[in-house]
Amino acid sequence: MSVFLTVLSLSALATILAAVVVAADYKLNNYGICAIDINNGTRVLEVNGGSSLLTSLSSQKVFIPSACGGKATCGLCKVTLVESAGPVLPTEEPFLSGPERDAGVRLACQLKVKHDLKILIPEELFNIKQYRTRVRRITDLTHDIKEFEFELLEPGSIDFKAGQYVQVDSKPYDKVPEPVSRAYSIASLPSEKNKVELIIRLVPGGACTTFMHNHVQEGDEITFAGPFGEFYLREGGDELIFIAGGSGLAPIRSLILDILEKKLDKKMKFFFGAVRKRDLYYVDFFRELAARHPNFTYIPALSGAVPEDAWDGEEGLITDVVARHVEDAVGKQAYLCGSPGMINACLQVLGKIGFEKKSIFYDEF
Ligand SMILES: Cc1cc2nc3c(=O)[nH]c(=O)nc-3n(C[C@H](O)[C@H](O)[C@H](O)COP(=O)(O)OP(=O)(O)OC[C@H]3O[C@@H](n4cnc5c(N)ncnc54)[C@H](O)[C@@H]3O)c2cc1C
Repeated sequence: MSVFLTVLSLSALATILAAVVVAADYKLNNYGICAIDINNGTRVLEVNGGSSLLTSLSSQKVFIPSACGGKATCGLCKVTLVESAGPVLPTEEPFLSGPERDAGVRLACQLKVKHDLKILIPEELFNIKQYRTRVRRITDLTHDIKEFEFELLEPGSIDFKAGQYVQVDSKPYDKVPEPVSRAYSIASLPSEKNKVELIIRLVPGGACTTFMHNHVQEGDEITFAGPFGEFYLREGGDELIFIAGGSGLAPIRSLILDILEKKLDKKMKFFFGAVRKRDLYYVDFFRELAARHPNFTYIPALSGAVPEDAWDGEEGLITDVVARHVEDAVGKQAYLCGSPGMINACLQVLGKIGFEKKSIFYDEF
C-alpha cells in the first residue's frame, strides 16, 4: 500500500511540475503581436512574437539572404536595428565587425522577436520573391552531383544576374521533421526566364542535399526564394579568369554563358579543378563552347588522376595549374567559386601573380 501511495504522489508531483513548466514557458514565450517596422515605415509587419526575426520576416514574404537556414554558420542574414534589441549573442560575434556592432547590425536568424522592432534592410530585398516551381528534369552529372531543372509556375519568370543564387526549401522527410532552406547558385542563363537550373552536390548527412538527391522526383513541386548574392560580373576586366571546384561550377557556368550570349568583348579562361576523372562534368559542353568561341578557353585539371583515368589533360592542384597559365594580372579580373580551402589557396596564388583584392570576386560554398 505504501509503495502504491509513494508512486501515486511521485506521479502527481511530476504532473504538477510539468504543468508549471508548460505554464512558465507559455508565460515567458508569449510575446503577443509585435510590429516590425522596416526602413522607417516603408513596410510595417505584424507578427506573433517568439520566433527568430529571419523566420518572422520570411513568414510575411520578406526574404533576407541566409545560406545556412538559420544555424548562424553563414553570417549572411545581417539587418540593422534602429533601436538596440539587447546585447550581441556569442553566436553572432564571429560575423560582426566592430563598426557593424556600433551601427546596430545583428544576425536576423539569432534575434528573437520579443517586442516591436525597427530595422533597416537593403531596398532590393523587397524585390525578392518566393517561386513555386516544378522539377522538370533531374540529371546525374557525377557520382555525387545532380543537375535539377525547375520550371517556374508562380511567378512564371525570374530576373537575376548571372552568378546569383536562390534559397531552396526542403520538405520534412525521414528524421528531418522541419523544412530547411539552403543556398544554390543558378547555373542557367538569365535570359531563360521561365526556368532555373541548379547543380547540387550531395553532402553526406546533409539535410537539404539528402532531400534533393534522395526524396525529390521529376514532376514534384519545390519552392525557392531569390535571387540573392553579390557574386556577379563587375565593370572592367578585359580578361576574366574563372576558377571553380565541385558544384562551384554552377554560377561560373551562368556567367560564361551570359557573357558569350551578350557577345561582351572579353577574353575568358575557365579552370575547373577535380580529383579524379569521375569528378569532372560538363567536359564536352565546355569543350564545344571553347571550339565555337575563340575568346573562351577551358582548362580542366585533375589533382589525383590514376592510370585508369587515362587522363592526358592538365594535372596538379588547380592553384598550380592557374600559376602555369596566368602570367600577370594586367587588365584581368578573377571570379572564384568552391570550398573555403580552394578559395583561400587561390587567393594566395592570385596575389602572388599580382591580382589586387579589388579584382577578385568569390562565393564560398
Ligand atoms: C552563396 C552560396 C551558394 C551555394 N551554391 C551551391 C550550389 O550551387 N551547389 C551546391 O551543391 N551547394 C551550394 N552551396 C552550399 C549549400 O548552400 C549547402 O550548404 C550544402 O548543400 C549543404 O546543405 P545540407 O543541408 O545538405 O547540409 P547541412 O545539413 O547544412 O550540413 C550537414 C553537415 O555537412 C557540413 N557541410 C555543410 N555544407 C557542406 C559542404 N558544402 N561541404 C562539406 N560539408 C558541408 C556541415 O558542417 C554539417 O556538418 C552554396 C552555399 C552558399 C553560401
